[in-house]
Amino acid sequence: MLGTMADLPPLREVIAKHGLSASKALGQNFLFDAQLLGRIAAIPGDLQGKAVLEIGPGPGGLTRALLAAGARVKAIEMDRRCLPALAELSETYPGQLNVVEGDALAIDHDDLMGEPYAVVANLPYNVGTALFTRWLSASKWPPLWSSLTLMFQLEVAQRIVAPPGSGAYGRLAVLAQWRSTAKLAMKVHRSAFTPPPKVMSAIVHVTPAGMPEGVNPRTLERVTEAAFGQRRKMLRQSLKGMPGAVEALAELGIDETRRAETLSVDDFIALARVLG
Ligand code: SAM
Repeated sequence: MLGTMADLPPLREVIAKHGLSASKALGQNFLFDAQLLGRIAAIPGDLQGKAVLEIGPGPGGLTRALLAAGARVKAIEMDRRCLPALAELSETYPGQLNVVEGDALAIDHDDLMGEPYAVVANLPYNVGTALFTRWLSASKWPPLWSSLTLMFQLEVAQRIVAPPGSGAYGRLAVLAQWRSTAKLAMKVHRSAFTPPPKVMSAIVHVTPAGMPEGVNPRTLERVTEAAFGQRRKMLRQSLKGMPGAVEALAELGIDETRRAETLSVDDFIALARVLG
């Protein structure tokens, strides 16, 4: 089906035809630049014949690029106004696009996809972190998703890929890095969006890595929550409420006067392992 992109009307025409004025409440900031969209769709690698989950296709700019790359796309969109425009796209790429109307937070993505899939999305900023946390907290590991290629506000993207010691390093970095590899793939200027958001954006690319043995994800979550909940305090203070945590620091040779942001992801993994 490659090449059919040329038959489609410009996205701005689609927006005008279907009266798709951007809704702030739905976090709508649309991308129209086909070249940029093609570069985004290339981040996960060759998508020919692959299953892709897109959240929030909107008028379908990114969807077009994914379809042109040969992906089989299932897209969840909450805004009914976008459905006719997406139906036209389905007609251009028969059998390649399946649109589900609904709230992506209320839908089981693994059930919907039923096979390994890549997630590619220009996420609505108001639900982006909640979705991201859910993908990374999958009970089965490696998860059914094979990669996440996601647009975030730059500040959130920086928190996801932050190294220890940096101000941006915290719970999100540990969650994104303890059994995955997270990279900042591309910065996107605010002027690329319609309407332009107040801040810069960036695309993060995440792939699952091996799961460290003997770590209970809930324990890791609790220890990072406690440690970063009072990030300016020494660990002996911030971890005081967690039974056995201060003793675990001693056992691992981690100085209890250090602060959470100085611990590596491996340190947190080791702590969770000792705490069981
Ligand atoms: N993919 C389009 C693009 O790149 O131009 C639109 C991206 S826009 C930032 C986010 C899209 O997510 C909007 O179309 C919005 O209606 C949709 N959306 C917002 N909340 C949603 C939710 N909870 N579930 C599914 N879609 C949602």
